[in-house]
Amino acid sequence: MMTILLSGCSEKILFAKDNSEQSEALPDTYKNDSKPTEQKQNNVEHTEQPGVKSPDESSKPQEEEAPTPPADTPSAKNNNDSIQVVFNPESIPVLVNKQNKLPDSYNPNDLVYTDIPFISGTTDEKRKMRQVAASAINQLFADAKAQGISLLGVSAYRSHATQTTLFNYYVNRDGYEKARTYSALPGTSEHETGLSIDVTGGDGKCAAENCFGGTPEAIWLEQHAEEYGFIIRYPQGKESITGYQYEPWHLRYVGKEIALEIMNKGISLEEYHNEEPVSN
Ligand SMILES: [Zn+2]
Repeated sequence: MMTILLSGCSEKILFAKDNSEQSEALPDTYKNDSKPTEQKQNNVEHTEQPGVKSPDESSKPQEEEAPTPPADTPSAKNNNDSIQVVFNPESIPVLVNKQNKLPDSYNPNDLVYTDIPFISGTTDEKRKMRQVAASAINQLFADAKAQGISLLGVSAYRSHATQTTLFNYYVNRDGYEKARTYSALPGTSEHETGLSIDVTGGDGKCAAENCFGGTPEAIWLEQHAEEYGFIIRYPQGKESITGYQYEPWHLRYVGKEIALEIMNKGISLEEYHNEEPVSN
């Protein structure tokens, strides 16, 4: 059986359901009558809307529109025994992954709006980052633009409440065990730190999708992100360590010094923490 690598961005696989089921279970905004995507097989569909939509993408669902689940929806707190709660969630290099989750009560207290352009349809919440990361991404975008590289933000911060609502919606629809295979447990999505952002090229295509890989924008990020304190959080070849597929679009702010070390050594954030344990 194929190992399912959950997307680090935790956008989910509505398209992996067949259309008839979607039509029954989802409101009109979720319906996607025209296509299952080619990503149907690997369960890593993102649901962000590119700024430039092709006609058959115009009905892509957006997670934040997930209806509030009924009160008796099984809680995301079930069966979390193997997951540790990080005790220093505001730490800039904090390790958040499938084994290390943010406390349920954690909300970053220094979120600000970034100055960068986003793809159309991005909610206010997703345009925010923690202050230090927002400043860094503003500078990264400005310098990229000056070098002829046009970028757009896709999705940055996601609140614990948003992730919880989303996850519980899937639990209600598919059951807890199945939901876990395609949606991040609340607290384990790095987007909840306010230090991560998904980006794409200026044409808005390939927003948080595999086709972003190898583009001039993706290559520029590989070469320059660390200068601004960002790492490519889910690198190629580290899937078994990070637990996530390669995501050239997902940037994580860790600060310049750590970013340089991680990128120059070609290691993951998990490996960095093993080498130099950081208080979590
Ligand atoms: Zn992401």
